[in-house]
Amino acid sequence: MAASLLYPASYQKINVPISAEAREDNLATTRVFSCSTKSWTKGHCYYIFLSIVSVVVVLFGSFWKVAPPSSKEALNLLPNNINEVAHVLLPANTSHNSNDDHYLYHRRTQINHALRDLQRTIDGAIYFAVDDEDDYAFSTAAHVWSERSVIQEGAPWAVIEVLNEADVQKVVPVLADLKRTFEFDFRVKSGGHNKAGFSTVPNGAVISLARLNHVELTHPHNDSGVPTIMYSSKSHQRTSDAIVRMGPAVLVEQFVAQVLKTHGYGGVIGFCGTVAEGGFVLGGGIGLQSRLYGLGLDNVAGLRIVLADGSAHYVSNHAEGEEEEQTKKGRSTSNLNKDLFWALRGAGGGNFGVVTEIDYHVHKANDKCLYYNLLLQEPNDMASFLYQLGSVEEELPGNLLVMHDFVDGVGLMWSGRDEAALYGSADYLDDLIDRLVPDNAPRKIEKTEFFWSEMYTSNQFDGMKTPNTWAAGCWYGFLMPANNTEAIWQDIIHLISEKVEAMSPFLLPDIELWGGAIHDIPSNATAFPHRSAVYNVGVLLTIAADTPNAEEIFQESVSDINIWWPRISQYLTGSYVNYPMASIEKLDYPRMYWGDNLKRLVDIKRRVDPHDVFSFPLSVPMSLK
Ligand SMILES: Cc1cc2nc3c(=O)[nH]c(=O)nc-3n(C[C@H](O)[C@H](O)[C@H](O)COP(=O)(O)OP(=O)(O)OC[C@H]3O[C@@H](n4cnc5c(N)ncnc54)[C@H](O)[C@@H]3O)c2cc1C
Repeated sequence: MAASLLYPASYQKINVPISAEAREDNLATTRVFSCSTKSWTKGHCYYIFLSIVSVVVVLFGSFWKVAPPSSKEALNLLPNNINEVAHVLLPANTSHNSNDDHYLYHRRTQINHALRDLQRTIDGAIYFAVDDEDDYAFSTAAHVWSERSVIQEGAPWAVIEVLNEADVQKVVPVLADLKRTFEFDFRVKSGGHNKAGFSTVPNGAVISLARLNHVELTHPHNDSGVPTIMYSSKSHQRTSDAIVRMGPAVLVEQFVAQVLKTHGYGGVIGFCGTVAEGGFVLGGGIGLQSRLYGLGLDNVAGLRIVLADGSAHYVSNHAEGEEEEQTKKGRSTSNLNKDLFWALRGAGGGNFGVVTEIDYHVHKANDKCLYYNLLLQEPNDMASFLYQLGSVEEELPGNLLVMHDFVDGVGLMWSGRDEAALYGSADYLDDLIDRLVPDNAPRKIEKTEFFWSEMYTSNQFDGMKTPNTWAAGCWYGFLMPANNTEAIWQDIIHLISEKVEAMSPFLLPDIELWGGAIHDIPSNATAFPHRSAVYNVGVLLTIAADTPNAEEIFQESVSDINIWWPRISQYLTGSYVNYPMASIEKLDYPRMYWGDNLKRLVDIKRRVDPHDVFSFPLSVPMSLK
């Protein structure tokens, strides 16, 4: 069904099609529920329910399916503490035929009751897929960046928009229980930018953290209790200038407005204004200043997390004495502190619990940046330039970030702490280009000075800020130093240029220069292993919502690229968890994402989430296969 588009504030409104099943059942339960709350008090219901259960148990023992409720009215009398009831009536290990109407009816009713019970206990709101397709509140709450995830795959049954950590603590155990008992799935969403749609789930529940978007700047020597040492080794120590304490749903554009523009601190944040910090830092996070300060995850000083049992923890790499200090301040630390803090940085998205707050290192920054758009028409010249650049990567200043995201264009962006250095950088970039671009190669250079804080309000540097992406697909892998050869680059660039031309305007190259500070940190220091990569090489497929036959084009393109991609991926190693791959079934994704860190991750996963409550198609597995 086509989406009807409105753009209230900066957010897009879509009409999410709700499955007939979900709408009917939610409506049925709404009617049932309002009817029962009119006629009966909670006490009455509970009393009658217990009587019915006693009679049923006496008469039929444990054979629940032999004596199902004879009518919907019987189920109207279910009490509100539905989780306990679910276990009385249908233990987790009860074998059932999933086509059994009674079971399905029972399941739906229990789920609806549990969610509506939650609605009364949390400060936030629950949006149910009950209303018509013009339900603005539900559609907005259910929205994710790639519309196809809700339109094609199906909308969630309910979106639980929490207001605070206490809400999360109430919601998670209930959803964990429903998942284990009824296989009712749920997901966690901060900004909803996961390109594979893993922050939503058809006919399940989404915990939306959209309202957890507070930002508070805490200075180095105040009472924050958080040190500004980011990373320390025998050879060097990296420090930051301050810490920002923020909710996971803080968007890049909000960070820029409230931290950079207001206080003069920059940091590692995404290129797109509507990406949220939550998913960004938990999976990795490459941004304008990554070669200077590392990935987003390297800038995390501490995290608050709610686990499957509802317990809340503050995890960080604090010394033990500081842990004690944190405990005194009401931020309890757990024995798992060290392991969990390690795992969350690189595998934190949707795998272990719900992160409710992030302490983040920030760095003094000049708002002014320099941007060179280097246009090289010949693929041979582009290949040669990228090879040369990769060869001298270790000598390049961290201030420089390079991205090749148009067939003939390479963006060179310079950011830093002070304006004086910025002006010197123009000479540096001119020299660099002269040195690395082949002699006589036709070239054009467009130079722009821009304000970082305004980058997200214009589309010049934010072509991805399209509010109407129908579907997206990613194919990425890391180019390691051994494969940074001229011959390999020639092959990669020719293959990509031809494919992008054939699939115009849907496919774009996306090649990022990594290294710098990302490389300074050992590959086992966090769950993110690909530290020695010189480049992240990929192609990005995006289909706009107004594209005729969008679904057909998407399907055909994905099949086509899946067959073609191995010609490039033969040169690449692993993959970046924040750019989830479309061809997942065929890939050994856990090793591709986490490499040699997988074993430790699996071990932590088994301890922290023993029932695999936080799972989705590409989640951390429970065992090593
Ligand atoms: C237009 C666009 C631009 C992008 N630009 C960049 C970029 O410049 N650099 C870069 O590195 N990446 C970029 N990305 C990728 C981006 O980093 C990931 O998509 C990231 O996961 C988005 O975070 P989110 O919170 O918005 O996404 P969500 O979809 O909300 O979450 C992503 C994943 O993390 C989980 N998750 C989210 N919040 C939490 C939480 N609080 N606790 C536990 N699990 C959670 C979700 O369940 C999901 O699996 C971009 C993506 C898009 C669509």
